[in-house]
Amino acid sequence: MLIKEYSDFSFTQAGVLSTSNWGVYLKLDNDIRQLFPYINSEIEDARYYDSPDYIVFKLDGVHCTLYPVEVMAAPFTDQDQALAFADRLIGYLNDLYARRETVKPDHRKYKPVPVLDLYKLVPGTNCGECGFTTCMAFAAALSQSETAVDNCPYFSKPISENVIYPVFDKDGNLASTVSIETDASNKEPKKSIQKDKVPLKITSTGVQAELTHREVEVLRLVAGGSTNMEISDRLSISPHTVKSHVVHIFNKLGVNDRTQAAVWASKNNIL
Ligand code: SF4
Repeated sequence: MLIKEYSDFSFTQAGVLSTSNWGVYLKLDNDIRQLFPYINSEIEDARYYDSPDYIVFKLDGVHCTLYPVEVMAAPFTDQDQALAFADRLIGYLNDLYARRETVKPDHRKYKPVPVLDLYKLVPGTNCGECGFTTCMAFAAALSQSETAVDNCPYFSKPISENVIYPVFDKDGNLASTVSIETDASNKEPKKSIQKDKVPLKITSTGVQAELTHREVEVLRLVAGGSTNMEISDRLSISPHTVKSHVVHIFNKLGVNDRTQAAVWASKNNIL
């Protein structure tokens, strides 16, 4: 027998709103931490914590928190019920100690993810689809395993993206920017588009910009296989300005490299 008796039994009311909101505290005459991995294995949904060692679980519907030599349990409606449960719990622990050779211990510790770390993974729109009124409430519940990731359809996925396109003047200087909000779920441009100075054409295939005369010249040379240095010599502009034109052209056309730009130029008869 591991536990022979307990002491310091106290029966206290944890709140004033409910008649069953009573809890007990008691002290054990022996250190029971060796039982924690067995409880962790045997009782579903038990949570075994580290530093300090303690375990939380439900026995017969009563919430129990066990430290090495201390026990807290709730709720109870009266002291007799609490005393009866104390005996029931001690009996369970002694029985588990007696048959510990037959139970495979589970030493895994429960490490809750901090609420703010989880909050960073939801979009913060407070849409309520998860059943919680705010994303923070959802993150807090998730941290306590009271809800599941699947209940938020947007978990760790942005629901919109803001793509910033630079707009340069004819000398290659940044003149303005164009911000386009896109729906991250289907990558199609949303209707909300903010234009600034340079008109853009929105097509069903994405965003295409009207190229300036200078950009068309640069694009032709890029499509013809010229390097930035060669374009710089040919158009008598600095290599830096050429580079800016090229970046600008890529952004406007939605292409990633010179080959794609050349293909676009070919399709649009800019050769
Ligand atoms: S479903 Fe996701 S985005 Fe919507 S309120 Fe819940 S956590 Fe926030």
